[in-house]
Amino acid sequence: MDEWWICATCAVEHDEQPEVCTICADERQWVPASGQAWTTLTELEEAGVRAEIHVLEHDLYALRTTPDVGIGQESKLVVTPDGVLLWDPIGYLDDALVAAVRALGEVVAVVASHPHMYGVQVEWSRRLGGAPILVAEPDRGWVQREDEAIASWQGDLEVLPGVVLSQPGGHFPGSAVVHWAAGAGGRGVLLSGDTIFANPDRTSVSFMRSYPNRIPLSGAVAERVAQHVARRPFDRLYNNFAGVIPTGARDVVLRSAARHAAWTRGDHDGLT
Ligand SMILES: [Zn+2]
Ligand SMILES: [Zn+2]
Repeated sequence: MDEWWICATCAVEHDEQPEVCTICADERQWVPASGQAWTTLTELEEAGVRAEIHVLEHDLYALRTTPDVGIGQESKLVVTPDGVLLWDPIGYLDDALVAAVRALGEVVAVVASHPHMYGVQVEWSRRLGGAPILVAEPDRGWVQREDEAIASWQGDLEVLPGVVLSQPGGHFPGSAVVHWAAGAGGRGVLLSGDTIFANPDRTSVSFMRSYPNRIPLSGAVAERVAQHVARRPFDRLYNNFAGVIPTGARDVVLRSAARHAAWTRGDHDGLT
């Protein structure tokens, strides 16, 4: 019998079962019209959820479920000779998925880009032999299931050689990204979570406080986030769904931030 719960809407694990999920009650998320619902790993498994591992490019993998668990996010696994980073842990796992992850190497850290992506991070850590769970210090208060493997972090953190975590903020004060220097054939990859959202046109990105509820960030914050990630070269960007900017992503981010700032400043009000 599970003694902890998963929010059926956002898939974040909880020690207790509050009336409404703390993550979903926030203005950045939503509670369904049918009301708050909770589930468990056992219930999800019995309902026939399947998890799969997909290759995105050399040494980069995605974990997805069918049907969606939570809002349909996906995890990324960055594989290096020194170990594996589990980024944006999904809110589901089973023995086969854990075995598939373990087969890629030792997971040295479980890290979510922001509280919407905590998923079942504690369960992942426990099933991976107590891998450290790194939580951005400014967002530490959003954790809903405690564990001794949780440690907070700030600034730039090289979690594996050539794999650097940092916190541009924006979407949440501690919203984080991963810079992976060896990605995209050595041209660099940015894993952007919801900090920077890859748009469906694949040539622009967005910067929002809330994506589902359309709450914008200011132009100044969009430009701050863009300048932060532009410190390091990268050619490709992946968000926490299937969104990708396949090439030229650093320029796309800078150009999109300038566009965001221009629109929020009113430069284009004549077009409205
Ligand atoms: Zn929730
Ligand atoms: Zn989010």
